[in-house]
Amino acid sequence: MKEYKIVVLGNGGVGKSALTLQFVQGVFTPHYDATIEDSYRKLSKIEAENARLEILDTAGTEQFSGMRETYYKSAHGFILVFSLEDKSTFEDLKLTYENIARIRGKDVPLILVGNKSDLIGTRQIDQQFVEDHARTLNIPYFETSAKLNQNVAQIFEECAILILKRGGVKEN
Ligand code: GDP
Ligand code: MG
Repeated sequence: MKEYKIVVLGNGGVGKSALTLQFVQGVFTPHYDATIEDSYRKLSKIEAENARLEILDTAGTEQFSGMRETYYKSAHGFILVFSLEDKSTFEDLKLTYENIARIRGKDVPLILVGNKSDLIGTRQIDQQFVEDHARTLNIPYFETSAKLNQNVAQIFEECAILILKRGGVKEN
């Protein structure tokens, strides 16, 4: 079976754990421990083939990057998450993206995610703005709600499909 190693990155509070737990366990956990960093496995079908997704839900920030370089080298693909209600979380992903691109090249399988799409009243970031930006970098962009389970499975599956297309996955 093919195994896809996906790392979820982004500032604290953007919903990395909520997205991961919604996908893997089908629940929305409103108060998940911010310091927990763990990997989760889920069986899935990618392009009609059984597959195992191994998802690393990271904690901490880019500054405390002792472990970061290890993830950057060993992951097959990356999901970069920001919160649609906090512009600085989008800005901070630029550094993350630059670090990944420096180590892995610009063709690395990578998906950009604006989470908390259910919070319409406090939204700070325009969808079209991010879409245009992502298109110039050739990065797929999705808006999700971990709370309402909108587009959640899609981001993990799209990341795996991108990994498959770019040849970065092993059979075992
Ligand atoms: P992490 O630090 O990136 O892992 O963020 P968490 O998954 O712990 O989420 C941080 C906070 O945002 C928690 O209170 C979550 O309940 C909340 N949250 C996460 N995703 C969503 C979402 O899609 N919609 C809303 N309304 N809240 C969310
Ligand atoms: Mg978390």
